[in-house]
Amino acid sequence: MKTLLPTSTAGSLPKPAWLAQPETLWSPWKLQDEELAEGKRDALRVSLHDQQRAGIDIVSDGEQTRQHFVTTFIEHLSGVDFEQREIVKIRDRYDASVPSVVGPVAREKPVFVEDAKFLRQQTDQPIKWALPGPMTMVDTLFDGHYKSREKLAWEFAKILNQEARDLAAAGVDIIQFDEPAFNVFFDEVNDWGIAALEKAIEGVECETGVHICYGYGIKANTDWKKTLGSEWRQYEEIFPKLQASNIDIVSLECQNSHVPMELIELIRGKKVMVGAIDVATNTIETPEEVAATLRKALKFVDADKLYPCTNCGMTPLSRQIAQGKLKALSAGAAILRDELAR
Ligand SMILES: [Zn+2]
Repeated sequence: MKTLLPTSTAGSLPKPAWLAQPETLWSPWKLQDEELAEGKRDALRVSLHDQQRAGIDIVSDGEQTRQHFVTTFIEHLSGVDFEQREIVKIRDRYDASVPSVVGPVAREKPVFVEDAKFLRQQTDQPIKWALPGPMTMVDTLFDGHYKSREKLAWEFAKILNQEARDLAAAGVDIIQFDEPAFNVFFDEVNDWGIAALEKAIEGVECETGVHICYGYGIKANTDWKKTLGSEWRQYEEIFPKLQASNIDIVSLECQNSHVPMELIELIRGKKVMVGAIDVATNTIETPEEVAATLRKALKFVDADKLYPCTNCGMTPLSRQIAQGKLKALSAGAAILRDELAR
């Protein structure tokens, strides 16, 4: 990356109201068939344009072609029955009705590769593509087949590896695996979670990252955050092993969070996407606030490895607020870039 402090978002951005119900997770599509396919491509173009207008350096599809960051990927796999639903507790936090694993899981054909090629055609800027991580996929399903979270994660890692290799070949510059489950199941992360992630990135010919956050700004998550006390040290449990892994980039929640910034020292050497935008509030950060968060992070990450970012995806926000936050991120990064150039 030539630009110092290149900005990006953690992933999802709001969808236009003509495509899906705004400010809603798992929002149903408003179009069908060929109209839906075209609508998704149009929304991707709009989302890209919004990022470019805000001055974002590493752009994405804004996840405009997915209903949800985990389930949409799983929908494309065989071995999972979406009719046969069970209630499970997601990330030990909230009940959800989820599909069941009923047989061996497999990727019959590429899932997002055509979308990625389409995005690649629209821009020469570096592009980042998000995929769910193996552990978070396991945690969003009922498994009636493998009956082992580790075994199922390993199978998903192999599938994700196929998809990641194809995405890199399609011209994606950074592939990011979303692993909010890493913040909850520390023993499993250290036992097999990071190993599964390394399986997913094996031989992938572009940069790879992992996004570990405290979730979207939905009620189940904000209620959970209230129980975590004044200092959130979850990252501390997994950073030593992550530091020793092959992953290039770690994406973290830092703005308004109670995570002590010095924990970043534990992953020294990695590139760090520092979340400087809070996605759980409609208040738009000032550029100064963004710069202050990045300045704090600079004590623990070298400037050439600091990537200003958002705490998490912004799909539950209004388009207007998300746009304001993107601009604040750019402006905040620019303040710090100026300081570093002095
Ligand atoms: Zn997130």
